Amino acid sequence: MQQGMKEFQGLGVVDGVAFGTAVCINTRIADIFQIWLAESEVESEIERFHQAVEQARREIQRVQVQVEAELGDELAGIFDAQALVLSDHAFLDRVVEHIRKEHVNAEWALQEAVDDIQTHFEAIGAPHLRERSEDIRHVCRYVVQSLRGIQHHNLSEIDHDVILVADDLSPSDAVRLGREQVVGFVIEHGSPTAHTTIIARSLNIPAVLGVTGVSAELAEQVEVPIVIDGDSGQVILHPDAATVDEFRLRAEDRKQREIELFEGSDLPTVTLDGTEVHVMANIDLPEEVPEAIRFQPKGIGLYRSEFLYIEKSPELPTEEEHFAIYRSIVEAAAPNPAIIRTYDLGGRKIAREVMNTREQNPVLGLRGIRLTLARPDIFRTQVRALLRATAFGDLRIMLPLVTIVEEIRQFRQVAAEVMEELEREGHPFRRDYQLGIMIEVPAAAVTSDLLAREADFFSIGTNDLIQYSLAVDRNNEHVADLYRPLHPGILRMLRAVVRNAQAADIEVSMCGEMAADPRMTPILLGCGLRRLSVSPRQIPAIKRRVRQLSLAGLESVVANCADCATAGELDSYLASELE
Ligand code: PEP
Ligand code: MG
Repeated sequence: MQQGMKEFQGLGVVDGVAFGTAVCINTRIADIFQIWLAESEVESEIERFHQAVEQARREIQRVQVQVEAELGDELAGIFDAQALVLSDHAFLDRVVEHIRKEHVNAEWALQEAVDDIQTHFEAIGAPHLRERSEDIRHVCRYVVQSLRGIQHHNLSEIDHDVILVADDLSPSDAVRLGREQVVGFVIEHGSPTAHTTIIARSLNIPAVLGVTGVSAELAEQVEVPIVIDGDSGQVILHPDAATVDEFRLRAEDRKQREIELFEGSDLPTVTLDGTEVHVMANIDLPEEVPEAIRFQPKGIGLYRSEFLYIEKSPELPTEEEHFAIYRSIVEAAAPNPAIIRTYDLGGRKIAREVMNTREQNPVLGLRGIRLTLARPDIFRTQVRALLRATAFGDLRIMLPLVTIVEEIRQFRQVAAEVMEELEREGHPFRRDYQLGIMIEVPAAAVTSDLLAREADFFSIGTNDLIQYSLAVDRNNEHVADLYRPLHPGILRMLRAVVRNAQAADIEVSMCGEMAADPRMTPILLGCGLRRLSVSPRQIPAIKRRVRQLSLAGLESVVANCADCATAGELDSYLASELE
């Protein structure tokens, strides 16, 4: 064995083999803890703070020089504002004062000072102050990173394939980095239904999660060769020649499987006893559409439009940009429908330009339809584009995170006003557009009979429905074993939602990750679902599974599952029933 070869085992979430050089980034600087200092430690903490400020200043200068060389002095000017923050004595003194008075660590004092300034600036409300407080927050990230001895990485300096190793990664960073030379993701935290994982899947970049200790292992090393297997979850640093050969064989094998993946795409998706099931595609990025269509889905069951925003941020997409994308999606899906979900921003999909306030608990905050209704100026642009695109195919609009009937009514009101505008301007659109809602809040599931009177269709978002129902954060690996799609509480809700949709004679589908797991297919069919929307590469597996099943008896399997008191009982029941 070559010296230094080291293997880690994680959870493979996006299949594929990747080879490259490990680049380690730490992002969890938001997790800042308060540490009390002894009187004797205060002065050295202040010194540590000054050193970190100096280091951050040098780092900003370095980035500025590089940006100037590559992109010109206009963009480099942005960094002048940032450098100024670190020369602002009033600001630095505030932090020092806080360390001295409160006897707390520099990271905490810095965060407190930034929060304080932000609150003041927000109270004044002038837009330039908001930008200024963003600058301050951004600069403070550099200082916290310096305090933690974390080096900054610039991927554009690297001219070969990179496997990104991170403690955590935001969905927007995953989109950005995935488009650069990143060929694999290794993430210490995260979970299979986190948006970052969903994006890695969309970009078809192999990913392994839950690989604890790998960043620490890489901390002292540079240019470390690494191979990963996004199926088995193996991550190997300094692989020896035999390991590289073995992984190359696996890669060849995957290539073959890729070809086979398309086989049978054109066969009807019908159960053994003759019921058709519609398998549709979930899309996060417009570039996924052509591949998705090759798998012959029955339409686009979910387009997460917020990624259009996340990619353009800090700019806001224009009406024409929205429109061009929606039109191209609906035309590509024809003659099948394309369901476009309005922005589901907020929560962990941070939207600084839209939100002008900080939240203690954003996942229970101004997220999804709540945020868009709160910002009609931004929302109207999207609604105008959506309605205009209805003229080009079967485009259906879907609202995220609906909890109360009024949210649907408010949307219809906005849409009615927009339609008047469009008519006056001479734009074609469909007045009888279809408006659906996500069922992803437990209260919405339980009151789906009431919501079904107002919505034209439902799509069940199990990623959130499970997190909110079981009080289990979908991103938190510490409670991952409690994230149980087959919890009797979830099964009971699924059955009720399908029943209520059927009673109201509206379509119901599922677009959460639960729909993409072939092991769940018999249960979902047993719940009465006949429409499943999954990430494009899962379409063949789900279609295949449907073709192997008979519906007869599945309803009673679900009823029995919904009566299992424990996970153990459920596992043994399912093993005996479905094997
Ligand atoms: C869901 O919650 O299941 C869903 C499909 O929406 P998202 O994953 O974008 O929250
Ligand atoms: Mg959701």
